[in-house]
Amino acid sequence: MPRDATPSKLEIVTEIPDKAMVIFAHPDDAEIGSGGVVAKWAAAGCEVTYVLCTNGAAGTADRALTPAALARKRADEQRAAADFMGVRHVVMLGYPDGGLEDTREFLGDVVGAIRRYRPHTVFVHDPYRIRGFQHRDHRKAGIAATDAVYPFARDHLHFPEQITRDGLEPHKVRELWYWGADEPDTIVDVTDSIDRQIAGLIRHESQVPGFNVPEGHTIGERVKKNAAEHAEGYGFQYGAVFRRLMARR
Ligand SMILES: [Zn+2]
Repeated sequence: MPRDATPSKLEIVTEIPDKAMVIFAHPDDAEIGSGGVVAKWAAAGCEVTYVLCTNGAAGTADRALTPAALARKRADEQRAAADFMGVRHVVMLGYPDGGLEDTREFLGDVVGAIRRYRPHTVFVHDPYRIRGFQHRDHRKAGIAATDAVYPFARDHLHFPEQITRDGLEPHKVRELWYWGADEPDTIVDVTDSIDRQIAGLIRHESQVPGFNVPEGHTIGERVKKNAAEHAEGYGFQYGAVFRRLMARR
């Protein structure tokens, strides 16, 4: 939001659901995209599930590191970050980094995770962002999650083998929250959880050198600067913003 825009036009959300899920392309995307809210909600007892779509094996500038070694390292970092954030379950789908495609298999994997962990709220990359570059995998994850929430996880005749063979039940997600949206409509006060978000983020040690931070600054300072700008005019120090879709009752 531009700094001179009318403040207080986003809806402030204070309710905390019983279960939430974060669907994201690469290790560290979840902490960047929804970390402040997830840390806050988990601390309040919300059961959070992470669904990591790729193995992150392309995320390095270090030519000495093999993709397999990097994938192992990033999986370990993601587990450490999730533990630290209070995330209860971590599902790793293991698709190739840079190779996420909108396939039946991927959609079915996301649908299966939703039916198994049954979140009230799902967080994901906004696939429809047009201002600024966005990684292809982020768009693919955003599209698959959007489709999985509605209608595929909800309706029993989609992926019926998950019900007849795997013992899952259809599930209706109530809210879909996109981070990275061009025009967010929702804000959450993350003043008390932003330090935990940042501490979770730097668990991704292999990525810290590549975080796009101006010289002389830390990733924590950048996260706080953005969050402080979002919160301007709302009566709290740090805010996280999203575009929210709500299912009809
Ligand atoms: Zn990413």
